[in-house]
Amino acid sequence: MYNKVAWNQYDAAERVELNTFAQEYKQFLDHGKTERECVTEGVKLLESKGFISLDKAGTLKPGDRVYVEWMHKDLMAFVIGKRPLSDGMNILGAHIDSPRIDVKQNPVYEDDGIAYLDMHYYGGIKKYQWVAQPLALHGVIVRKDGTKVTLALGEDDADPVFYISDLLIHLAQEQMEKKAGKVIEGEELNLIIGSEPASGEEKEAVKKALLTLLKDEYGIEEEDFLSAELEVVPAGKSRDLGFDRSMIMGYGHDDRVCAYPSLRAVADFSGMPERTLCAILTDKEEIGSVGATGMNSHFFENVCAELMEAAGVSGEIHLRRMLRNSCMLSSDVSAGFDPNFAGVFERKNAAFIGHGICFNKFTGSRGKSGSNDANAEFVAQVRRIMDDNDVDFQTAELGKVDVGGGGTIAYMCAKYGMNVIDAGIAVLSMHAPYELISKADLWEAYKAYLAFLKDADNQ
Ligand code: MN
Ligand code: MN
Repeated sequence: MYNKVAWNQYDAAERVELNTFAQEYKQFLDHGKTERECVTEGVKLLESKGFISLDKAGTLKPGDRVYVEWMHKDLMAFVIGKRPLSDGMNILGAHIDSPRIDVKQNPVYEDDGIAYLDMHYYGGIKKYQWVAQPLALHGVIVRKDGTKVTLALGEDDADPVFYISDLLIHLAQEQMEKKAGKVIEGEELNLIIGSEPASGEEKEAVKKALLTLLKDEYGIEEEDFLSAELEVVPAGKSRDLGFDRSMIMGYGHDDRVCAYPSLRAVADFSGMPERTLCAILTDKEEIGSVGATGMNSHFFENVCAELMEAAGVSGEIHLRRMLRNSCMLSSDVSAGFDPNFAGVFERKNAAFIGHGICFNKFTGSRGKSGSNDANAEFVAQVRRIMDDNDVDFQTAELGKVDVGGGGTIAYMCAKYGMNVIDAGIAVLSMHAPYELISKADLWEAYKAYLAFLKDADNQ
């Protein structure tokens, strides 16, 4: 149903299902704090549901369940349908990278007895939100010989955490007069990592002690940071929020709150699908979908070509038809209407938490620039599918016209000529260390994805 409060339609049994799903999502969030960790968790989920790696699958036939991992940062899952691949797929896409602070290549230094890692933020953040709170360090360090150290430090109660200091209020008279974008500057994002000096050393004694510790505990040298991907994220778990536990506060809802139910919908789909089903979880959306793992890369098209080959179909025209005939829900979070900041929204076209999955016919900024703008015919099909399957949905724009804007992966998939619409879940405090969503919207999104996989077709 369009624009109703989703909570009102749940009976006791559905509330149990909703809460179980929310618990499982929170587990995914807590174990998947980086794109690499999300891929690892995703592969575990897929394998537990009978999916195998495409390169081990042999000749594909209807009903086969396969996945492809790309550079440990993208994940694609497929359930092969009854109809030929060139009839197109029903695709669910979302991204698994989230705003964070990355460690620089040459990061370690000591200043007046405190050792630090120098950092460079990733994606759009309000830098002042990331100081004076517990931070965790996740990622990989790849040694010159190719061996790898994987870190996730700061999540276990026994782990240490890390910290970026803020100026004490007593001396902040000048800082408090600054514009919010300047309160904490990019080069002030320095992560405190230690303070105990090596004995008998005078110069850089703390840094020396820490480098010895890193060598002893992890087998890494200072130069190994050159080939590392270390991401600093808020330490701690996602939590139920409110006396009624109707919401979830967590790091990285953008866009794992869409990625998880998308992957689950393909993994949980029961029976033999008519068309082939696909979930794409992609990297680098927060910095423009660039690079070999961003949606702008040809990795997805390459995988589709491999799929055709494995299904015994040759000739590029079939690949072109497969892509062209596909339909996609490109899911990314929507700006949830925030009564605290009502002025930036236009109520008739805003996403309200608890009103179900949100569809954005278009996104973009300054006159829809950069937007996909789904075809009305396809939007009508999506409305029909939602109503036929009792899914609560709403439609929205990202704020008032000309107040701001943002992009998604939709237009990059639409370049193949397929029907794509932006979909997603309303989030409060998007890109903050902890973001807020409604459990009802998570649940409605999952129901919407299952319905789309079952009923969407190229028309
Ligand atoms: Mn984002
Ligand atoms: Mn996003």
